[in-house]
Amino acid sequence: MERTKKVLQEANRGISDFYDLDFTRGEINLRQIDARALILPAAAWSTLRDELVRAFKGGAFPLMFQIGYPIGSTFMERFKKLDPNPEIAMKALPEIGASSGWGSFSILGDIKDGSEVLLRVANCPFCSKMNERDLPVCDFLAGVFNGMVDTLYDKPHEARETRCESSQGEFCEVVARIVPEKTDEHKRWGTYVLFPWLAPSRSQ
Ligand SMILES: [Zn+2]
Repeated sequence: MERTKKVLQEANRGISDFYDLDFTRGEINLRQIDARALILPAAAWSTLRDELVRAFKGGAFPLMFQIGYPIGSTFMERFKKLDPNPEIAMKALPEIGASSGWGSFSILGDIKDGSEVLLRVANCPFCSKMNERDLPVCDFLAGVFNGMVDTLYDKPHEARETRCESSQGEFCEVVARIVPEKTDEHKRWGTYVLFPWLAPSRSQ
């Protein structure tokens, strides 16, 4: 896609290189995927996460993952319509991440076929205020990345946060690997952890 390549070649970029603001209509559009976007304070995410943990305890982690998944997959559905080449999408992701305030992205691994892809995020907005924690806390980010790679490569992956900036410094790392298949229960495990009675009957 010509528009994507143009942005990749630009050395000095400002927010207006990525977004169009229609002030009268109160609308922002992310130019690279031709889709409406919105801005939320990053602090709202950590408050939301704290509230979910308070309400659902350990079930909050798979729930945040599940919330992230469709955000990643819908983003990639839009991107694929403009350019279906996975390498172009993965190379564009750091620019899109940076211009959207999601931190400084690096993408490593097999970006051509997606067998194993790593996302590293320095200055991650999802854990920047959580220095006291010991465990990886960016379940939402891992879910977003899982949704992205499943859609981009059209194959199921399992994505896990293997390192978190909040406890280990430098960057968060999410590793996504292709898996043979995903059941509906696997895709929506947050629901089934919190609401096991919604799980499909195993006798069926
Ligand atoms: Zn993290």
